[in-house]
Parts: sequence; structure tokens; C-alpha cells
Amino acid sequence: MSQPRMPVECGVPEIEPYLHPVMKKNYGDWKYHNRPRPGVLRHVANSGDEIWTVRAGTPRQMDVTMIRQLMDICDEFAEGYVRFTSRSNIEYMVSEESKVQPLIDKLTAEGYPIGGTGNSVSMIAHTQGWLHCDIPGTDASGAVKALMDELIYEFEHEEMPNRVKITTSCCQINCGGQGDIAINIQHTKPPKINHDLVANVCERPTVVARCPVAAIRPAMVNGKPSLEVDERKCICCGACFPPCPPMQINDPEHSNFAVWVGGKNSNARSKPTFHKLVASNVPNNPPRWPEVADVVKQILSAYKEDAKDYERIGEWAERIGWGSFFEKTGLPFTKYHIDDWRGARATLNASNHVRF
Ligand code: SF4
Ligand code: SF4
Repeated sequence: MSQPRMPVECGVPEIEPYLHPVMKKNYGDWKYHNRPRPGVLRHVANSGDEIWTVRAGTPRQMDVTMIRQLMDICDEFAEGYVRFTSRSNIEYMVSEESKVQPLIDKLTAEGYPIGGTGNSVSMIAHTQGWLHCDIPGTDASGAVKALMDELIYEFEHEEMPNRVKITTSCCQINCGGQGDIAINIQHTKPPKINHDLVANVCERPTVVARCPVAAIRPAMVNGKPSLEVDERKCICCGACFPPCPPMQINDPEHSNFAVWVGGKNSNARSKPTFHKLVASNVPNNPPRWPEVADVVKQILSAYKEDAKDYERIGEWAERIGWGSFFEKTGLPFTKYHIDDWRGARATLNASNHVRF
């Protein structure tokens, strides 16, 4: 009888056993690389060895059938080695140029687009949503799939002024959501408290400590220990909801999308930057989120038309000025774009204590 496989709790595994043999042999000894076409990388080592990488888009959340199909393609058309990028693209490595086109043909025939390299719009990095997390206000993966269906041309071609990194985040305290274009959930009403449940479910001091603007106070309600929120202070961030689910902040009408522009994590060519709000209250409208797609396409089309070569979206907006950005994209500039909040110094919970 076969023995059950026991988990090995040792952190991130050693990379070496999973490297393609050509990569292992030439590790740290590469001469140059180029991109013969969108979605294909060619690395040449000082030894003269070459390795070809074919990058394909995936819908990110995959079932077992799809993963088996991708691995079967790897066994039949590649050389048994794959890796996933941080944007959920799958990459197949082959050591001979003659294997590249049959692999591309097979992936394309099965519906996996080839691209995501260079100055394309690569796959959108998104957070886990309902599959893994208990607090999302939307289905980030669904919004991503719907949007990439519309942007597939820009995934398959490298026609943008520079690379475009889009992110989404399904709550407002978010584990993602900083990119050239970021699509993040935005709550616009304070949490609604179910006072019957707070005493049973929540550790009240933890919840009070969690609020970044000190808007939560302990309170007795109907003879039971509960909490209350000072709604004049609350910035609707949703940070109280994870440790205290009875403080429900998700709302079908008042939890919408906001689109932010100009974030950059890398140090390449220019320093990292924070993004800025360009559209708020965009409807959270499943299953295709057409309003989100319209905003993103407006931004991309103006950027593609107007930016200089190698300008990232934020660099382009800074050069032309944010006034021109709104004119060129056609997005309305409203009072919600002005950050006039003056309470930070008095109320911001700026302690450096780590809180859980
Ligand atoms: S962004 Fe928020 S809701 Fe979405 S997976 Fe991360 S913590 Fe959960
Ligand atoms: S944690 Fe955020 S949502 Fe909750 S009360 Fe404080 S500011 Fe409002």
C-alpha cells in the first residue's frame, strides 16, 4: 500500500532541483538576452548555450484539469520545466529554437495567449478574493479575467511606450494594488455593527487598536459589551472588519472600485512612486465589470497615443501635468480627487508598535 506523502515544513524550497539543465549549467554566466517576438525570451550564455522561454497568459485561478493540461503541454511540447511569474503567466523553457513554434501553436490552439513581455500590458497582478480570503469586497480574479479579455491585443503585442503593470485589490487595506494602473475596492460608508455578536466574536482591544484614526471606542449596547464608531473620524478603510466580522463594511451599493494611476515599485530608470486617484465610485458590477474596463482603456489609449518612448504611465502624467492627464484621458476631475483631509496629525495612529 502506498504511503501518504507527508508535508515538509521547511519554507521556500531550494530552487536548484527545479531549474532547467541549461539554466543550471550556466547559472550566473549569461552573455545577453533578447526578445525575438512578444512572449518569447532568448538567453545566450557565455558557453554558447541558448535557452528559449515561451510566456503564456493564464486566468490565474486554475482548476486541477487546467493545471494538468498545462503540464501535459510541457511534457509533450517543452522539456518538462515550467515556472510561473509573479503575474501568473506560465513560462516554458526549451533548449532548441525548433521547439518554440510548435509550443506556441499548441498553447494558442488551447486558448492560452502568448505575450506579456517587454512593452506590453502583462497579466494583472491581483489579490486572492473569495477563494482564499474572508474579507474581500469583490472578486478580484473575476474583474481581472474580464479586463484581460478586453486587453488581449495589448498582452500579445509590445506596442505600449513602456511596460504596463496593472494590479487589483479586493479590499481597501489590500495585499496588492500598487501599479501603473491600480484597481482597488473603495468603501464609502462606515461599518455597520451587529452588536449582538461583538462580545462573542471580537477581541475589543484588538479592534480598537486596529483603527488608524482612533475612531473606535468600547461601548455598552443593550447591556452587552460592544463597540461604537465615531463616523466623523472614520475614513471607511475597512481595517476593523478582519478582526471583527460583526463590523461589516462590504456593501453592494457603497463598496465600489477606485482607479489609481502612476504607482511604480521598481527602481528601474526612475525611483519608485505612489499612485494617485483618478476615478472613484466606479461600479462593482460583476460578471464583466464594463465600467472598470472603460476607465482602464481610456487611460491606456491616451498613454499609448501621447507618451514618449520608455515613459511609464506615472512619468507621462507628471510630465504633461495632471490637469492634462484628465483632459487627454477624458476622465472627469471631481472634488473627490482632492485630498483635503487635515486630521492626520491629530488622529493618525502613528505608533510604531506592531499590532495584530
Ligand atoms: S486584498 Fe484584502 S480582501 Fe483581497 S485577498 Fe488581500 S486582504 Fe483579502
Ligand atoms: S478601522 Fe477604518 S473602517 Fe473601521 S472605524 Fe476605523 S477608519 Fe472606520
